[in-house]
Amino acid sequence: MSRFMNRKYRDLTEYVPGEQPQDRQYIKLNTNESPFPPSDGVIQAITKEAIADLRLYSDPESRALKAKLASANGVLPENIFVSNGSDDILNFAFMAFGEDGAAFPDISYGFYSVFADLNHVRTDVIPLREDFAVNPADYCGRRELVVLANPNAPTGIALSVAEIEKIVSANPDHIVLVDEAYVDFGAESCCSLTGKYRNLLVVQTYSKSRSMAGARLGFAIADRQIIADLEKIKYSTNPYNINRLTQLAGIAAQNDGAYYAENCRTIAATRAYVTEELKKLGFSVTDSKANFVFAKSDRIGGGELYRKLKERGILIRHFDQARIADYNRITVGSREEMDIFLQNVREIIGE
Ligand SMILES: *Cc1c(COP(=O)(O)O)cnc(C)c1O
Repeated sequence: MSRFMNRKYRDLTEYVPGEQPQDRQYIKLNTNESPFPPSDGVIQAITKEAIADLRLYSDPESRALKAKLASANGVLPENIFVSNGSDDILNFAFMAFGEDGAAFPDISYGFYSVFADLNHVRTDVIPLREDFAVNPADYCGRRELVVLANPNAPTGIALSVAEIEKIVSANPDHIVLVDEAYVDFGAESCCSLTGKYRNLLVVQTYSKSRSMAGARLGFAIADRQIIADLEKIKYSTNPYNINRLTQLAGIAAQNDGAYYAENCRTIAATRAYVTEELKKLGFSVTDSKANFVFAKSDRIGGGELYRKLKERGILIRHFDQARIADYNRITVGSREEMDIFLQNVREIIGE
């Protein structure tokens, strides 16, 4: 650290993203990317003309993209916020709505506590139940921002819309942020509740189910006043934070919904297969509704399995964290990738 660093950031512990190694070709099952490419419409949207137009700023209001997202979600454009990845939106939400603190589970997306620290938001970290489920009662009457990933990461376990509604209605004076990064793989979106509750903020991303992690595009759905608050922060930091190509890709992806829905069904089927096979090998596996499985073996530690697979060119995610150090989070890739993964696990635990 240089001696110039602002004192208020000196103690910040930054988020550590999953490895993106450039040294060799890995089977990447560590950052929940899609094994499928973006749809043909997306690929065709990035024309030479579109690239030539990069000399111009992008539309700061993302009008065409918001119109598409609004009609797809049965809301108005004023109910849509778009930004450079959903991480950006989560950060803005901690800035905008974290004044009274924030509550989230002890085992969840690691970025929540980083955004809280960055924005000096006090946190209440609430333990998940023994079986890693969220207990909705723990989030009722909190008097602070509530942040829940649904399905949760890295467990994959989902709450029902009825359970989310209970939490939202029990916190009328604070925002309940539901991070639906993985919702398309088999959970229920609570997006339709945004018409009924003025304190619900639903955040989604193109990074997982829409095969566009590298394009950086996230969106949120909420009451128009919540959206206006997020816009205020965006326009105070970086109004052009979605580039032209990403806006075009985001619009095109909305026209290819059937393609993405089919990919999600394939992932869900592969997830069921991998879960079954891991159970046959003696793993405990959570009931994941996401594009990953969360599993532990009593024959090998989580860290050891991670290291041995890495030596063999397969990356999975291990979190060196209390309660889950025995587990690994394994992205559901293509059937071929998962068969190679399973074969290597068999060999490693047979050693
Ligand atoms: C991947 C992920 C995000 C971030 O997505 P981006 O849109 O790529 O920034 C947000 N929340 C959770 C729970 C995630 O797993």
